[in-house]
Amino acid sequence: MAATLIDGKALGAKVREEVAASVAELGHVGLATVLVGDDPASHIYIDLKQKAARQAGMDARDLKLPADMSEEELLATIAELNRDEAVDGLLVQLPLPDHIDENRVIEAISPAKDVDGIHPLNAGRLYLGRPTLVPGTPLGIMRMLDEYEIPLEGARAVVVGRSAIVGKPMAHLLLQRNATVTICHSRTQDLARHTLDAEVLVAAVGRAHLISADMVMAGATVIDVGMNREEGSRKVLGDVDPSAMEDAAYMTPVPGGVGPMTIAMVLQNTVTAAQNRRGSVLATAKN
Ligand code: NAP
Repeated sequence: MAATLIDGKALGAKVREEVAASVAELGHVGLATVLVGDDPASHIYIDLKQKAARQAGMDARDLKLPADMSEEELLATIAELNRDEAVDGLLVQLPLPDHIDENRVIEAISPAKDVDGIHPLNAGRLYLGRPTLVPGTPLGIMRMLDEYEIPLEGARAVVVGRSAIVGKPMAHLLLQRNATVTICHSRTQDLARHTLDAEVLVAAVGRAHLISADMVMAGATVIDVGMNREEGSRKVLGDVDPSAMEDAAYMTPVPGGVGPMTIAMVLQNTVTAAQNRRGSVLATAKN
């Protein structure tokens, strides 16, 4: 029997409606996005996030800065946005131009406004299992798994990929939910031996169709994070061969799976940041 498709587009739309309701309740939620340079893919991502933020009723500030700006200038812009009371969430689109130290920039973002969940303080809190701002992609995957009631407690989960933005936070979120987690990467030997054991398989590699159907266990839940552009075509391919759909129980399509969830969850993080900040403002006011 073919897998049930996990519809990220529909669920993403639902999350965005929830976000819009929260924004209306809060009255004002501000998101600032910072893009340095002219990478075409980054422009597309930022424009999508900006549009989604505005649709949700947020005050969305769109800073597009020149590729030749200095690191100091960028750090000064971030410091200003950190201080700006109207900005609840602050997102710096990566990658940055080569002359700018990415880690220095990430560490300059106020952890309370870090809606991409990439500041070391937020990553550290996640590692410790404490509530924090978590990167949108793994957070969206957890929401999909919950929405489709995929059992995680005690389940064998395999994450292929160990990036700071997807693989590692994904593994930690699954661990928090008491899955037994294996992380695979480019030096893993006999990848299929691991993937075939996965009741929940998350592929976040960036290699089109690296995971073939015979590497997927019958009845598995397969989450395909990959967004690989075919040379000379606009088609986007996942990391998992779509024929895996025949034996899997649940699977995300590409496109229309993880992608729309990521943007929705960044917006949700912005609401969370706004709520946390309002909470802390109240707490300060009481003292
Ligand atoms: P990344 O930083 O390039 O990390 C890729 C990971 O895959 C690395 O940990 C790497 O291992 C591992 N890897 C590479 N080749 C492998 C192989 N042959 N076997 C096993 N593991 C292998 O990429 P990323 O940022 O995590 O993104 C992964 C994919 O997801 C990309 O296609 C990206 O476009 C997509 N993505 C999609 C969304 C979305 O919203 N849908 C969001 C983010 C990313 P090493 O650590 O050993 O090098």
